[in-house]
Amino acid sequence: SKRTNRGHPLLFTKQHMVEIEQNTRIEQALLNADLNTELTVFYQPIIAIDTGKTMAFEALARWTSPVLGNVPPSDFIPVAERAGLISELTRILLKKALATASQWPDNVGLSFNLSAHDISSSKAVSLIVGTILASGVDPQRLDLELTETAMLHDFAQAKAAIEMLQLLGCGIALDDFGTGYSSLSQLHALPLTKIKIDRSFVSNLDQNPASYKIVKSLLALSSDMGLGCVVEGVETSEELAALKKLGGRLVQGYFYSPPVPASQLERFLPQTTGP
Ligand code: C2E
Ligand code: CA
Ligand code: CA
Ligand code: CA
Repeated sequence: SKRTNRGHPLLFTKQHMVEIEQNTRIEQALLNADLNTELTVFYQPIIAIDTGKTMAFEALARWTSPVLGNVPPSDFIPVAERAGLISELTRILLKKALATASQWPDNVGLSFNLSAHDISSSKAVSLIVGTILASGVDPQRLDLELTETAMLHDFAQAKAAIEMLQLLGCGIALDDFGTGYSSLSQLHALPLTKIKIDRSFVSNLDQNPASYKIVKSLLALSSDMGLGCVVEGVETSEELAALKKLGGRLVQGYFYSPPVPASQLERFLPQTTGP
């Protein structure tokens, strides 16, 4: 673990050393990267359970470094945040994702992950707004996903940023819901439109009574608060059946599809009856 064990001396282990070395390599490669060509975006469908129709796609960053090969976003996004590179990454990824979304039928939405830093100042928010406006994509089609940590780091600033993005017409989704420790009253004070139930609650939903109860109450909570709800990480037909029974409406997960490149989305898009 990277955390200090409270009450115990911080043990600097070989594992820490390996992580530091790895993060240094990632940072160096990011600094030398041609981000415009090395970064791509994959897309994972968000599906309405009752109709099986694709309502939106979540954009997920992919990086192929000529030095390090494929680096997962869980490894390079935190490094980019600490190295002050995240604004640039966000701008490049959002631009690419919006260009792809502009090719979809306009009833298909795009869900895009923002970092804490992306909403940490009015300048950062202007970059996002500018990128959205320049794309020509209707902001109403766009959901911006934020975690509790990102929203509650500086509550007043986050609130102002979220209000601004919502004024533009974007939806705001609370990502990884249930994994944080924030107070619901604080979250309720933010103009959210959607929550995404973290996949940790969904694995073995059909077999684990505790998970079942948590998902049940999170679904009830989102509905009481008038929010949309996406259940993440649905992998099996048993999990899907359990969710259906609980009244879940929007799902995302390997059961339907892993994230795939833009060129592989046809089967999820409604057939156009073009010329
Ligand atoms: P996230 O936003 O919670 O994204 C969902 C992650 O769960 C994705 O991992 C996705 O591939 C994975 N996933 C989806 N369905 C399933 C499933 O059924 N089973 C399992 N086991 N996993 C599933 P990925 O693409 O590796 O992304 C990891 C995280 O990196 C994301 O978590 C997000 O926090 C961050 N991230 C990815 N792209 C971006 C980006 O463009 N900007 C920012 N700021 N963060 C990003
Ligand atoms: Ca997300
Ligand atoms: Ca998530
Ligand atoms: Ca996550």
